[in-house]
Amino acid sequence: MSPASTNPSPLNTNTQGTEGGKIFTNSNGCPIPEPFATQRVGKFGPLLLQDFNLIDSLAHFDRERIPERVVHAKGSGAFGEFEVTDDITDVCGASFLDTIGKKTKVFTRFSTVGGESGSADSARDPRGFATKFYTEDGNLDLVYNNTPVFFIRDPSKFPHFIHTQKRNPQTHLKDPNMFWDYLVSNPESAHQVAILFSDRGTPASYREMNGYSGHTYKWSNKQGEWHYVQVHFISDQGNKTLTNEEAGELAGSNPDFAQEDLFQNIEDGNFPSWTCYIQTMTQEEAKKAPFSVFDLTKVWPHSDYPMRKFGKLTLNKNPANYFADVEQAAFAPSHTVPYMEPSADPVLQSRLFSYNDTHRHRLGTNYTQIPVNCPITGKVFNPHMRDGAMNVDGNLGAFPNYLDSTKEINFKEFSLQEDQEVWEGAACPFHWKATESEFEQPRRLYEVLAKYPNGQKNLGHNVATHVSAARPDIQDRVFEYFSKIHPDLGAAIKKETLKLSPR
Ligand code: NDP
Repeated sequence: MSPASTNPSPLNTNTQGTEGGKIFTNSNGCPIPEPFATQRVGKFGPLLLQDFNLIDSLAHFDRERIPERVVHAKGSGAFGEFEVTDDITDVCGASFLDTIGKKTKVFTRFSTVGGESGSADSARDPRGFATKFYTEDGNLDLVYNNTPVFFIRDPSKFPHFIHTQKRNPQTHLKDPNMFWDYLVSNPESAHQVAILFSDRGTPASYREMNGYSGHTYKWSNKQGEWHYVQVHFISDQGNKTLTNEEAGELAGSNPDFAQEDLFQNIEDGNFPSWTCYIQTMTQEEAKKAPFSVFDLTKVWPHSDYPMRKFGKLTLNKNPANYFADVEQAAFAPSHTVPYMEPSADPVLQSRLFSYNDTHRHRLGTNYTQIPVNCPITGKVFNPHMRDGAMNVDGNLGAFPNYLDSTKEINFKEFSLQEDQEVWEGAACPFHWKATESEFEQPRRLYEVLAKYPNGQKNLGHNVATHVSAARPDIQDRVFEYFSKIHPDLGAAIKKETLKLSPR
């Protein structure tokens, strides 16, 4: 049973049809003695509209699909727990972190980003790594990726960027021209592109990859002091990757291999786990940093901002039903708990709106009543948020639908940050133009890759095999783009691309 299934929802008292010996019924519970007998006129005549058994089942079948997520459509998920291993109460006052050894139920969903629901798990693509923590102060969603940076830092570019990674509006094919045209025209993408085209762009499984907050968050302690924070979930299984060729082969032979791997390992009791770390900066340190902490295209170098362990995330239970828990899971960076806040990172700010907006569209306005999304704190008590489609939790009964002064309503207090960031200035257009500095951190990565067997070589090879399908003028811009990371990389890509697609 999922943690959310323990909620006092009337839904959960209905076990009809879930166990052996139940009587087969149609959707209003009426017993059906012969499920496969359609009503018709005479032995071979037309069917009757009054045959509710048939109409009921066909009409429900026609509505089985809910809107697919525009991004992160293909995913796998599991329940588990988070355990505090080290004290970080000097950084964060969140109740689920207040005691070493304290455990919190979680649900994690992994995903690819660009492909449709049936697409191959081995696609070269970032992986989503989203975890819902069912805490005593409500649900905390950490909606991360397996890469520590992203392609953009201006959220208005997001729909443009995603469209270029998906299908051409006319051919309905993946399009290497628009893929690379976008990336080289927006060089702040270079860091993420370098990671994506390294072998980490094709993880060997969801178990064998890390999760990163990417964004900077603001966490505060109970004394009202706050830090900027980056979070890392480092795989205890190690980072294992596929080569470009292995990934291509798997896309044909077993496109669902990552789903199979996660499900089977959990089923076999081989529970995957991740050790959780933070990096922190004070506001003063952030002002002195050689990059903006609000820039999603930058990492915080480990040597300057050391990693500090605080917990372990373990996945130990497969969902009983994929649609109920994985397809209906609704994560949102705006689902947070006291002492954990978003920073001013513009992409994070836009995600605070966009995720919930998606869930209202995909699942309806009462999506937090769906068991996997429902806080374990019991029924949400929010007397003015009532009604709406698919309200199934009793709708707070006769309780007044406003803050009625005659009712006793409790408000939980927690110490707010007093020494907050102060922002002021005119409303103005947001320009954050790319400069040559975009290539510094990817260059550092290129140096790191020299320590891995074939690390640098595979990066060049993986780009060349992809860009060889693009137009020559776009290929030339790609060579220039990677030459700015390192001249050797640009030259290697050019050499192999021209061999694969001679001019
Ligand atoms: P360090 O020299 O301290 O460590 C290098 C890090 O590179 C490793 O810890 C590992 O991250 C990561 N790494 C190894 N192979 C790959 C790969 N194929 N793709 C992506 N990351 C890989 O690093 P710095 O902190 O000085 O950063 C150097 C570069 O490493 C960065 O420019 C960035 O591209 C990359 N990186 C940095 C991270 C950070 O938070 N500082 C996080 C991840 C990558 P891990 O330990 O997380 O597995």
